[in-house]
This record gives sequence, structure tokens and C-alpha cells, in this order.
Amino acid sequence: MNKHFDVIVAGMGIVGMAHAYAAARKGMRVLVVDTDHQASGASVRNFGFITVTGQEEGKPWQYARRSVDIWRSVARQASIQIDQTGACFVAKCKESSDLLQAYARSKSGEDCSILGKNELQDMCDGNFSEEIEKALYSPHELRVNPREAIPTMRQWLTHHLGVAFQTSTHVNRIGKGRVETTQGTLHAERIYLCMGDRLGEICPEIWQKRKLQICSLQMLKLSPPGIRLPFPVLSDLSLIRYPGFADMQEAKALSDVMERKFAVHLKHGIHLIIVQDQDGSLIIGDSHAYGDQALPFQSEQVDKLLLSTFRALLPGVEAEVCERWMGSYVCAKDGIAFSEEINEGVYAIEITTGAGMSLAFGFAEEVLNHSI
Ligand SMILES: Cc1cc2nc3c(=O)[nH]c(=O)nc-3n(C[C@H](O)[C@H](O)[C@H](O)COP(=O)(O)OP(=O)(O)OC[C@H]3O[C@@H](n4cnc5c(N)ncnc54)[C@H](O)[C@@H]3O)c2cc1C
Repeated sequence: MNKHFDVIVAGMGIVGMAHAYAAARKGMRVLVVDTDHQASGASVRNFGFITVTGQEEGKPWQYARRSVDIWRSVARQASIQIDQTGACFVAKCKESSDLLQAYARSKSGEDCSILGKNELQDMCDGNFSEEIEKALYSPHELRVNPREAIPTMRQWLTHHLGVAFQTSTHVNRIGKGRVETTQGTLHAERIYLCMGDRLGEICPEIWQKRKLQICSLQMLKLSPPGIRLPFPVLSDLSLIRYPGFADMQEAKALSDVMERKFAVHLKHGIHLIIVQDQDGSLIIGDSHAYGDQALPFQSEQVDKLLLSTFRALLPGVEAEVCERWMGSYVCAKDGIAFSEEINEGVYAIEITTGAGMSLAFGFAEEVLNHSI
């Protein structure tokens, strides 16, 4: 293989893919290297939920809007299936209902609409709890199956944009224009390190300086229960997690209620997102535990809390757990993403909000525009 490229990207998760795509679109000769044979990091363990509504106002919201446009275009060209569109944020109490209505009146919420209980039940075959007050429907979102989308994107980048992939190749060291790997030294004008929760192995100083942490999450897959959800669904616990809602004045009253009613859920960072695969199975999650390392063990208590939250929202739906897994992503106290030049032409990249699927394409486009 040619060992000299315009651009080398380390990491074939969504952040690496997005940088490879943006570079290839600029006519660069791009090589992606990865330790793994097939992607197995956060980018294939997530919901595949590409969100706009709920992202913080300003840059995050703009990256998300741009990312949705790029996802649509890539999905069409690469034949990546879009399983669901839009999203529904469901309110089970007056405080969450007030918050959703305030959001719908805000600038970020201008394309969203409020659904009454009956409207939501009609759209979802009456499967929701009778306790629901209202819901916010957002039209912006997309849902892809990440286990299929990431490998399909790799094939498409290879065959249609000429991106080279060298897998089973671990990056050991980086220098100006040089990537030292387990398979030899590779050269490029520019190097983008998109190594997710393992960036600290190559750039420990960045990890320490930015006080990065790892967030571990638990996820469940439920066998097809025979219902069809036209869009991903989020519970009112999600509203105090997503900054687009949580930063609003009306969120304070909701936080107080949630802290009283769901103290144990909040201790484990639990909220509820439900997405649906093509075969009808449901992916539900998640929890959030922060530390210096990804958690190795799954908590049964967290799984039970996730399932009880799911059953409280969709009480008549019978579904067995068919898969359990954990995932992890990098998080920072400040900022949603960074690109830091650590050596001439060498950039350490990270999305630090747990929204890489939603932000990576928009962010990578900006990084490439500034660095090339
Ligand atoms: C359970 C879960 C649910 C989530 N849900 C969503 C969601 O629905 N929507 C959303 O927007 N975001 C979601 N996220 C966040 C999103 O998945 C991440 O932000 C995103 O996947 C991070 O992508 P990445 O490319 O940085 O990391 P990864 O996907 O982990 O990729 C990093 C790659 O770098 C490679 N690598 C590491 N070190 C080296 C090395 N030294 N040499 C070579 N290769 C190396 C790894 O093998 C890996 O393939 C979720 C995350 C989790 C864990």
C-alpha cells in the first residue's frame, strides 16, 4: 500500500468517518487506520439517533442541523436505511408539559409542534400510558441502525470517494507528518486523531489538561413486541439531561419534581430513549456513570430501572430483553467538542457530549475548512 497520503485519520468511528468524508470531499487522498478489524466502539453501540431538538442553542444546534443534512445525503448515496424520522418528547406531568410548550414557542422549537394525548395515542396505536399530558413532536431527527450504518458508510467511502482503510493497525505514536503504527510508519500532510475514549493513550497531556472523563452507559434491546413507533420516543427524564431543554427557565420546576420522584434514576443518570429497528425490536436506554475508565460490569439494578421506566411509559407492551451491552464516550465539563493542533498538522479531535452521531458531520466540516 502507498504509505503517503494527504490526510490520515486514526479511528473509524463516526468522528473519524466524518473527518474522512470531509477531507475526501475536498479532493484529498485519505487513509483511515483503526486498531479494530471492524468498528466496535461507541459509534456502533449507540441508538443511532441523530438529534437536533434538545441540543444547546448556538454552535451545537448548528452542527446538528448541518449533520442531519449530511446524514440525509450520505444515507441516500450509500443506501443507508433511515429507520425512523422525527422524535417525540413525552410529558407525564404538568411541569414537563409546561417546559415542552415553552420550548415549542422558542426560536429553537419553531418547527416543532405540541401533540395532545389523543393525537399521540392515535399515531402510536394507543400504546402510551394514560398519564401522558402532552408531547412535543420534532421533525428534524433521523434514526439509523448504527451497526449497519457505520460499516455501510465505510464501504461507500472506499468505493465512491476513494478513501483507503487499513484496519487491525494500532497507532502507537504521532509526530509531524508521521503516524507510527503496529504495521509500520505512515506519512501524511495532516493527521486527525479521532480515537474516542482511547485518545488519552496517545495524547495524555490533552486528556489531563482538559480534565476529560469517560461516561459508561447501559443499553438494552427488546425483542419485537408487535408495535410500530413512527419516531424515537423520549421520556420527561430526558428533558433535564438535554441542554436545549434543561437550560430553559421552566426546567427548574421539572428538575425539582424529578429529583423528588426519581432520585434513584437520577443517581444512575437514567433517562429513557426508545428507538426501533427495522425488524421491530426496540433499543432502550440509557444510564450514565462518570469516571476515569469505562465500567467493566453491568448493573442489574440499572437494567431493572430502565425496564420499569419503559413499562411505565408503554404499559401494555410485552417485550423480552434479547441483548444487553455497555458503551462509553468521552465527556468534558466545558464545551461540546474540540479540535486541538498538538503538533504541526496533527489534530486531536473529540466530541465530548455523548452526541457524536448528531454532531460529527457538522463539526468535521468546520474542522476541515479551518485546517486545510
Ligand atoms: C450507549 C451509547 C449511546 C449513544 N447514543 C447516541 C445517540 O443516539 N446519538 C448520538 O448523537 N450520540 C450517541 N452516543 C454518543 C456517540 O456514540 C459518540 O459520541 C460517538 O460514537 C463517538 O465517536 P468516536 O468516533 O469518537 O468514537 P468511537 O466510535 O469509539 O471510535 C473510535 C475508534 O478509534 C479507534 N482507536 C482507538 N485508539 C486507536 C489507536 N491507538 N489506533 C488506531 N485506532 C484507534 C477505535 O478502535 C475506534 O474504532 C451514544 C454513546 C453511547 C456509548
